[in-house]
Amino acid sequence: MRIGILGGGQLARMLALAAHPLGLKVKALDPSANACAAGVAPLVCASFDDPSALALFAQSSDVLTFDFENVPAAALNGLAPVCAIRPPLGALDVAQDRFQEKTLFRKLEIPTPSFQAISSAAELGQALAVLQDRAILKTRRLGYDGKGQIRVDRSSDPKRTWGLLAGAPAILEQLVAFDFEVSQLAVRSSSGETRFYLLFANIHRDGVLHLSYSPCDRADLSALAQRHVGALLEQLDYVGLLAVEFFVLKGTLLANEMAPRVHNSGHLTLEGNETSQFENHLRAIAGLPLGSTAARGFSMMLNHLGALPECADALKVDGAHWHDYAKTARPGRKVGHTTVNAPTRAVLQERAQRLGVDELPELWERLDGAAA
Ligand code: AMP
Repeated sequence: MRIGILGGGQLARMLALAAHPLGLKVKALDPSANACAAGVAPLVCASFDDPSALALFAQSSDVLTFDFENVPAAALNGLAPVCAIRPPLGALDVAQDRFQEKTLFRKLEIPTPSFQAISSAAELGQALAVLQDRAILKTRRLGYDGKGQIRVDRSSDPKRTWGLLAGAPAILEQLVAFDFEVSQLAVRSSSGETRFYLLFANIHRDGVLHLSYSPCDRADLSALAQRHVGALLEQLDYVGLLAVEFFVLKGTLLANEMAPRVHNSGHLTLEGNETSQFENHLRAIAGLPLGSTAARGFSMMLNHLGALPECADALKVDGAHWHDYAKTARPGRKVGHTTVNAPTRAVLQERAQRLGVDELPELWERLDGAAA
């Protein structure tokens, strides 16, 4: 079976690495000839809105999937008769627009921070005038990793703030003083079989994922997250891996956003779970049986942004695994990650410290405190 991946970044690279043992043939399409998936899979260099390149790519694929969810839907609409598209375009369409996404969450009774659409400086001015608390203005489209987001309060100047987003349609969202953040990853096959990973707890820095920890073993939160994500999977008739990020506030979940693809917080499944998110996504879209999502003990993932640290220093730590995306160093760029596995929290803490990570005890206090 031939899998075509739209986008050739690190997600495509790790999908390709997981595809080889399954006997799946993978190629990627990306506007950059230097896209990092090129090291492990054939790369077609073309723009995402080049209809003839997309048509050719689809014709030589049995299934199309995504490393990047912002491929213009208009460019994809004509491809459905040519090959299977998994996850379905409806999921992509919803995830491309924060307003549509949160409106769907609400329709499915998935709680979210309060939000409203803003389409002009005047509307922003009216909304700011009645704002009770701090809020975040986010572009509806093309925002990721904290980009296209501005924190505001009643005293913010609407014209100036609107200008900073260059007039892009936006949503104004309540700023949540969450206890911690989690993501629920789930995989669904075309026959509707669904498997959930345990929740991962995530720490962001400046809007970008810094560290993920598994398992956030909280039966109350897991039950809620599985109900919410299960509803989305059904509604979207989803096939493949779906990730939904939630804020945890006083034992409740507020949905922030969903990603219709493999997700950065799931990188720890590479060594931390029986079947990685990459393999399970491929199994789902290729019509193969899904694999166990069980955790292999305790694990964490540390993102490397900008430049990689010394590989040998990380590998001196037992249970550590190195993932180099073969990218050129650039400030803020995700260039690799390290995962660490351990049989107990205490061992994980000792190993994490050797990698310079000291956030775990405070995170555990929050996880356990919120359970009390
Ligand atoms: P996003 O691009 O929406 O995933 O936001 C990136 C990160 O910014 C989130 O993971 C949070 O850490 C933070 N953030 C986004 N929206 C909110 C919010 N409404 N309240 C508090 N923090 C937020």
